[in-house]
Amino acid sequence: MSKNSARTAGRHFLQIPGPTPLPDRILRAMDTPIIDHRGPEFHKLARRVLDGIKTIFKTTNPVIIYTATGTGAWEAALVNTLSAGDRVLMVETGQFATLWKNMAAKLGLNPEFISTDWRTGADPAVIEARLKEDKAHEIKAVCVLHNETATGCLSPIAEIRQAINRAGHPALLLVDTISSLASTDYRHDEWGVDVTIGGAQKGLMLPPGMSFNALSDKAIAASKNSKLPKSFWSWEDMLNTNKLNYFPYTPATNMLWGLAAAIDMLHEEGLDNVFARHERFAEATRCAVRAWGLEILCRDAKYYSPTVTAVLLPEGHDADKLRSLALDHFDISYGMSFGKLAGKYFRIGHLGDTNDLTILGALAGTEMALTLAGVPIRKGGVQAAMDYIVSAHADPQRAAAE
Ligand code: PLP
Repeated sequence: MSKNSARTAGRHFLQIPGPTPLPDRILRAMDTPIIDHRGPEFHKLARRVLDGIKTIFKTTNPVIIYTATGTGAWEAALVNTLSAGDRVLMVETGQFATLWKNMAAKLGLNPEFISTDWRTGADPAVIEARLKEDKAHEIKAVCVLHNETATGCLSPIAEIRQAINRAGHPALLLVDTISSLASTDYRHDEWGVDVTIGGAQKGLMLPPGMSFNALSDKAIAASKNSKLPKSFWSWEDMLNTNKLNYFPYTPATNMLWGLAAAIDMLHEEGLDNVFARHERFAEATRCAVRAWGLEILCRDAKYYSPTVTAVLLPEGHDADKLRSLALDHFDISYGMSFGKLAGKYFRIGHLGDTNDLTILGALAGTEMALTLAGVPIRKGGVQAAMDYIVSAHADPQRAAAE
């Protein structure tokens, strides 16, 4: 029976790829009286989060914390490093890459967009070839998404850095980790990234409204010559005040308490365990999709996302109708589809503070919703996911190697 009353019992299944469900511990950490943001207690909190967040990006360099959603941190990365008319090389992995490219154009930059069919990640070889052609070094930055949330494709950032090095090109490397940070391995320093953009509302298990720029020395040097106008986003003001354990404006104090709790929780679980957990959810989800006989949007296993799986529906079946039916009957939300593939796929988010049984519940809801919507599927997706999860618990190393 579909929902026809004002109240829905039980917890909503929030299977969008972020914002993700908030752990009670983070809610409790945020539920605290406001403190003086120039006083001694705040100084301690600021130091705790400014140092702690570096361990999540795996950097010893400064990480800027903005009171803004991820879009703000995108803008901050561009306006602090670049000047009007600068050429930037971007990759059309999907909707979010397109939005970032549009932003670059609006800011007066000159984006060059490497196109894809939205079913793959950024290819290091294509980036290398383009940079080798750019003998005059007109391209000032390479901008890629680590995880394209719109399609469920993860790009190999370490390989992209090697490609830039092989081309002998001085471009900065700017990477968006909004839907991958704190869910899959990421190494700002080791991978030679110049600016890493992060967001609060996904792997960090926080509400929307906080975002990050992790910097390199080269990025800080570039910011001294960058001419795009900036005020709120200026790294300089942030770096100067952060050194003294405060912010150039009123910080989102309660979000910072939440961030401190999130960093503690990630380390208590162990980052590698967090990453393995996400890999397990992702592969369990893919096992279900394959068993149903449906197609995963990401067409190359090399680029599979650990945080979101996009599922294509057969011709003639409307993914938006499926999402609305699933919400109505089973109180589950999925991510929508975008752009040239709008209506053709839906996205199952499997990230943040979640566990095996929640993922299996979500997959059970999905199998029932697909059946109810008349999508021709084989049964047994949930069973395939269970079998995989059992095997991953029995032999985690083998499961990770598969
Ligand atoms: N980049 C990626 C990869 C995203 O997934 C999102 C949002 O989901 C954004 C950027 C934009 O972030 P926000 O909506 O927090 O402004």
